[in-house]
Amino acid sequence: MELELVTIGTELLLGFTLDTNGAEIGRALAAQGIRLTRRTSVPDRADDIREAVGAALRRTGAVLTTGGLGPTHDDVTKQTVAGLFGTPVVFDEALWQALLERYARYRRTPTANNRSQAEIPQGAVVLPNRWGSAPGLWLEGAAGLAIMLPGVPGEMRNLLHHEVLPRLSERTRAAVGVIRSGTIRTTGIAESALAERLGDIEARLAPLTLAYLPGVTSVDLRVTAWHLPAAEAEARVSEALGLLEAGAGEFAYGRGDTDLAAVLLAEARRRGCRIGVAESCTGGLVGGRITAVPGSSDVFVGGIIAYADEIKREVLGVGAATIGAHGAVSEPVAVEMAHGAAARLGADVTVAVTGIAGPDGGTAEKPVGLVCFGFHVRGHQDSMQRVLFGDREEIRARASQFALFEVYRRLRSLPD
Ligand code: AMP
Ligand code: MG
Repeated sequence: MELELVTIGTELLLGFTLDTNGAEIGRALAAQGIRLTRRTSVPDRADDIREAVGAALRRTGAVLTTGGLGPTHDDVTKQTVAGLFGTPVVFDEALWQALLERYARYRRTPTANNRSQAEIPQGAVVLPNRWGSAPGLWLEGAAGLAIMLPGVPGEMRNLLHHEVLPRLSERTRAAVGVIRSGTIRTTGIAESALAERLGDIEARLAPLTLAYLPGVTSVDLRVTAWHLPAAEAEARVSEALGLLEAGAGEFAYGRGDTDLAAVLLAEARRRGCRIGVAESCTGGLVGGRITAVPGSSDVFVGGIIAYADEIKREVLGVGAATIGAHGAVSEPVAVEMAHGAAARLGADVTVAVTGIAGPDGGTAEKPVGLVCFGFHVRGHQDSMQRVLFGDREEIRARASQFALFEVYRRLRSLPD
């Protein structure tokens, strides 16, 4: 079955409200094997709603809307959709009584405009809303099928799961299958390089489809099986994830929404390592990522934010001569920071980060985005540097991710 979605609300277009309903409905329908073919957002204006819902009905024959079902004058969805079906809006006495009971239960008195919430397009099925006052509506006619849900995310979600999906799945039961997706997370490699590395993997994954989803710190690979029986879809997705993981090799660090810091902690725990950090330009972000993971305390000992040179010297023991000769943003300083952190914190694995996050402070030979990393892993020290791109926030996020990833790599390659 195919369906279009129209999310209604001027606030969605002004950008004040994120269209989370759209994302949530897309996921829920896919899980049921219903393909959402188009998603449109329109303001609370009858003309715009009429045009969007009318076009969806002509194209696809079935449309789901959210928003514009409230009692105020900017809520015009049901009148407009009723118009498209050539049906009047009528007052529904049973619905009004149910609303009055709800008000009585919460000891509230309905206002005059609440009566409009008991008005429905003639012939529509009322989808009872136990979580709020605007019911959902299911309207079928010569124009097709229109399902109207309120915009409030919690009410939309409950109506979707309790009233809409069961009705839709009754229709699609005869039709084929489900839509299932799986994700591999990669980091430390650009989308284009990853695609080159994976080569013609799409041909091997077919009929499953592959999407590259680049974020600030990761490129996720999402594979999707369309319209297959559930067991087959799951088996194929799992096989595809194995292929992608093998293809991405050392750059793959987990599945689903796995966090790199959690993967690093698990590896350190397995090897009995205690981790510490020394941070300059990331100002605690690396330690923050690690301590955001529940249970990190058995592995993470702590960190030192060494922003000023004197803290690098006095707290971490970086040599004044090293700073003088190479500058604070340099690999030799990063290594001494990592070494100092290991000594001060009693950690056997440390990472140090020192860089130029910008927007100012760059030079020709040390540009904004230059970040140096020092590592101390069970007495063995080394360093790396990268020029990371983006604004200050992105550079700091990328530097933190890079630090975590490189520590993880070093831990993984330790002998057992
Ligand atoms: P409405 O049913 O149009 O009166 O919407 C009520 C509230 O739900 C709005 O004030 C928004 O905060 C929220 N809302 C409406 N549409 C969406 C949407 N597509 N995604 C997330 N929140 C929404
Ligand atoms: Mg609204």
